[in-house]
Amino acid sequence: MTAPAISYEFFPPQNLEASFHLWDTVQTLAPMDPRFVSVTYGAGGTTRDLTRDAVATLHKSSGLNVAAHLTCVDATKAETLAIAEEFARVGVNEIVALRGDPPKGSDGFVPHPDGFANSVELIEALADTGKFTIRVGAYPDKHPEASNAQADIDWLKRKIDAGASEAITQFFFEPETFLRFRDACAAAGIDAPIIPGILPIENWKGARNFAKRCGTDIPRWLDDAFSKAERDGRTDLLATALCTELCSDLMDEGVDALHFYTLNRPELTRDVCFALGITPNVALENVA
Ligand code: FAD
Repeated sequence: MTAPAISYEFFPPQNLEASFHLWDTVQTLAPMDPRFVSVTYGAGGTTRDLTRDAVATLHKSSGLNVAAHLTCVDATKAETLAIAEEFARVGVNEIVALRGDPPKGSDGFVPHPDGFANSVELIEALADTGKFTIRVGAYPDKHPEASNAQADIDWLKRKIDAGASEAITQFFFEPETFLRFRDACAAAGIDAPIIPGILPIENWKGARNFAKRCGTDIPRWLDDAFSKAERDGRTDLLATALCTELCSDLMDEGVDALHFYTLNRPELTRDVCFALGITPNVALENVA
């Protein structure tokens, strides 16, 4: 089986120690030759400057293809587009364009009075500049705000038609969830690639809470498996095996690209990549 194209998501470091940690993560994962790496934009736009600095530094220092996430939250249209221009100025021409979530504690997304009302407006404005490759989010388990699964897919089609070239999905736990979604997208006339978002589970409690907030279906068997693994002190083994199986099942169904949510922790993602046959691409001159 051919190894899939891979990409990695990082979050911007908030302090010096976290910066070193991100750099270690990049050093560990970069040899796997990712198609791109992306850097998130904190909920509520809270990491605006950190995201800009992180993408600029990664672009300059790692030689990787870097994509910046950008949301519509709490900013005017002019401010949001100025940030996109900043990304372009430092050489980052790939954007994951999102509506975004409000900061913790606030109810639902409320557009800024002079801001983009939704992700489609943001995508259209970015596409109009002609400067960016645009990716968007997609929700195999349905976004919690969507009235039903078909409405969610119809909205995704509008995002693609507005100028996005690919969608990256929210994480999910079972391959069928993605495969059903991929079929439904094809039936709705979406021909852009849908890249599965893969969450290697470092910490089941954290992943479970996050899944609940995102509306991601949590299968009973997974809860049981992690309970037993925690009892027996082998959660790492379980996490590696489950994530590898998920990716492998997707690849068996023709999936040729995977996007890993690394949470800036490289080991599990690296082990899964190795298990999938994605080997480090080390130049001969760098081998001692
Ligand atoms: P949209 O797809 O625009 O909206 C979400 C859903 O709501 C839609 O699927 C649709 O069903 C419904 N909807 C919204 N508006 C309308 C409308 N006008 N008409 C009809 N239906 C509508 N968040 C961050 O804050 N920072 C990040 O860096 C970040 N990165 C992410 C990366 C990926 C790959 C994904 C999948 C999510 C990411 N998120 C991030 C989370 C994201 O911001 C939230 O899920 C947010 O609630 C939705 O953003 P979106 O652009 O996907 O929204």
